[in-house]
Formats: sequence, structure tokens, C-alpha cells
Amino acid sequence: MTQRSIQQLVPALTITEGAGVTVHRTIGTPRLRHLDPFLLLDHFASNDPDDYIAGFPDHPHRGFITLTYMLDGHMEHRDSMGNRGDLRAGGIQWMKAASGVIHSEMPQQTDGLMRGFQLWINLPAGEKMSDPQYQEFSAAHLPTIEHDGVRIKIISGEYAGRRGPIDDPHTQVQYLDVSLPPETPFTRRVDDNATVFLYPFEGNLLIGGTTVETHALVVLGPGDEFAVTAGPRGARFILLGGRPLREPIVQYGPFVMNTEQEIRQAFEDYRNNRLVKKRAQTVSG
Ligand code: FE
Repeated sequence: MTQRSIQQLVPALTITEGAGVTVHRTIGTPRLRHLDPFLLLDHFASNDPDDYIAGFPDHPHRGFITLTYMLDGHMEHRDSMGNRGDLRAGGIQWMKAASGVIHSEMPQQTDGLMRGFQLWINLPAGEKMSDPQYQEFSAAHLPTIEHDGVRIKIISGEYAGRRGPIDDPHTQVQYLDVSLPPETPFTRRVDDNATVFLYPFEGNLLIGGTTVETHALVVLGPGDEFAVTAGPRGARFILLGGRPLREPIVQYGPFVMNTEQEIRQAFEDYRNNRLVKKRAQTVSG
């Protein structure tokens, strides 16, 4: 067994997205352009409506999957596939933009806490121009495992014999939300070939001899196991794993393809209203 240690610590960059939403970005910044197969991680957490009220009006995506995990608050989603979804506390939304989706994500609250994560997962070359798909699951659909004050919610992949509602056949994404009481250890076996990262968002975490605070992402180095311990106030973090695609990445804003030519094509298709090619089936829970 080889223990994974900290390979890189990436403090979040606070930026403004959409029509004026404050997000804390780690993957997708100059410090960490991509973390194959992940393209972007935004953490949003604010009590101030000025940080979120403007929302994300209609905008396009092509070439990847967006996975949103809502911790607090209420957003409404509408897209060019004809889906209308309500994303509420504890719920998740998975959107395979693939060949093209235009969507909006708008807050349905004028005050109170809005908190969650949006992750972009890359698609292999052969899937980038496939049909888009959409899935939404409320909090009740996430298996939750609780023992001795430890609580683990499974968004994607397997934990203790239970599976989360999201299944990614291309990158085998594992996505857990882990809450630990003070000074409590957490260990996990992981695929040696997988990219693995953690992002604490409550309390703090001890990894090796390093204390990691919130608003920072921890990339773990090679190995097939890792161990962390919650700090004196406990810890809550998301834990992500995924098989790298090892393909060229050319990104321009909301379009992520393999070549410059494909990016030019994406712009041309968007300008000529050809980004969205057909309606696709919706699976919801
Ligand atoms: Fe979007």
C-alpha cells in the first residue's frame, strides 16, 4: 500500500462569473489550468445576495459535463433540451453538454445562504459531439452513510457498498461529501491510476503534517490509499477521483475540445445557431 501525500495545494481565486456571481475557483485558474479529467471547480458560498442574485443567464457549453452540487439555496435551471429543473439544498444536477447546450441557472431566492459546487468533467474525444443529456436528483436520492458522527454522502461512484446516482463510464468519477467530527481520521483506498483531490469547505483538515484550511484544493500524489484527520473544529470536504483521459485539451471559455479547429467550429456553430443540434431524452429522479 502506498500512501498518497499532498502533491499540490491550490488556494482558490475569487472571481466574478455569469452576470455577476462571486465564485471561488481552484481548477481552471493559472495555478491549475486543468486536473485531468477535471476542467473546472467553482465553490460558491455567500449570505450576501449581491454575490449571487444576478445568476447565470443563457450561455453555451460544448465538449464536457457540468455537475452541480447544491448545499444551500435554490436555483432554477432551463436549457435548450427543454428541461426545467429546480436545484435545491442537497440536490445534484448532471448535464452532459457534449455537442452543445444553451442553459441558464438563476437563483430563486432574494436573500439567505447560497452554497455549493460546480465541477466540469471532460469528455473523451469520441463523446464530445454526442447528444446532450440531463439528469437531476434531489437530496433524498443521495445515499448517506452515518457512523460515529461521520457522515458520507455519495454523489458518484461507490462507498461501503452503496452507489451514488451519477455514473460516469468514461472517467469513473468518484464524488463524496464527507463530514468528520473533531480529530477524526478518514482513510480510503483509491485507484492508483486515478486523479484524486480534496476540497475542505468547513473546519480544517490535517494531511501528513500539513493543515489545510477551507477555500483551497489539495491534489494528492500517486498511491493507492490516503489518510486525513479532521482538525479541532471538525471538517467537511468534497473528495473527487477520476481516471485521466490523457488527450489534448483546447479550451476557450465554455467550449472545451481537442483542437483549435474544433474550437473555431464551436464559435461558428454558436454564431449560426447550430450549437444546439437536437433535443435529447431527460432522465430525472
Ligand atoms: Fe453553465
